[in-house]
Amino acid sequence: MSMMTNTLLQSVETRLWQIENDTNEPYHSKLVILVGDHAQLPIICHCHLLDTKNYCQKHYVYNAIDWNFTTYHILETSIRHVEDLEYCSFLNIIHCQAPTEEEISSLLNNCYIDENLVEQYIDDKTTILHTHRKDVDYYNDLILHKKFPANQIYVIQLETNARNVEHIQSWVNNKRFNHMQHVALGALVMLIENIDLKVGATNGTTGIVTKLEFDLEVNICSISIALNPLGYVQIVGKNQFKTNMILKDIFTKHHFL
Ligand SMILES: [Zn+2]
Repeated sequence: MSMMTNTLLQSVETRLWQIENDTNEPYHSKLVILVGDHAQLPIICHCHLLDTKNYCQKHYVYNAIDWNFTTYHILETSIRHVEDLEYCSFLNIIHCQAPTEEEISSLLNNCYIDENLVEQYIDDKTTILHTHRKDVDYYNDLILHKKFPANQIYVIQLETNARNVEHIQSWVNNKRFNHMQHVALGALVMLIENIDLKVGATNGTTGIVTKLEFDLEVNICSISIALNPLGYVQIVGKNQFKTNMILKDIFTKHHFL
């Protein structure tokens, strides 16, 4: 409920009144349980951010008329982070005020790694996060080359019939143009589109590359991935994108997502 506005809570009350209009009790004898952290995320309202200080306080849920009738139970610990006292104390700071540089550094400095340390963290249990999207491709490649010898790494060619970069510039500029450039058998990969919801081949599912198939021109045409956690093998083919914007020519590109 951290993103809930006072008007939304009021709408719940109004709807209950419409259903049970024989009583004037707040929430009309219905038990409404609101659970959440008020300070976790800013509320979603139509106020422009610049009109307010850091976030809108006018539409905060506790400004709902019926908020006065509610009973509060304040949890003394953050259940999700109860075992991480250092992180808990940091959350307590950011609930009340913007943290100082020192407070951020004291908690997060140990989390930052540079390029030289990446090798130590290449395992199945560690996820390396990046501050910039462009770094993802760079580090994916770096990790692949640190984990696999060069002769086991296959280059995925960008196939297009475009005759120059201008023709496919819109693709290159497109943030969803996430061309996978290298792959190896045994590499840990992640799907970034829903392929088959029934078998769990969904956006964000990870898996291990188990098989590569090549076409007659020795370009990779399909990648088989044993999905975590059950090992269901999903075959990922190339997506084909077309454009016919320029001089009636149709340009296509293929890439794996
Ligand atoms: Zn607002």
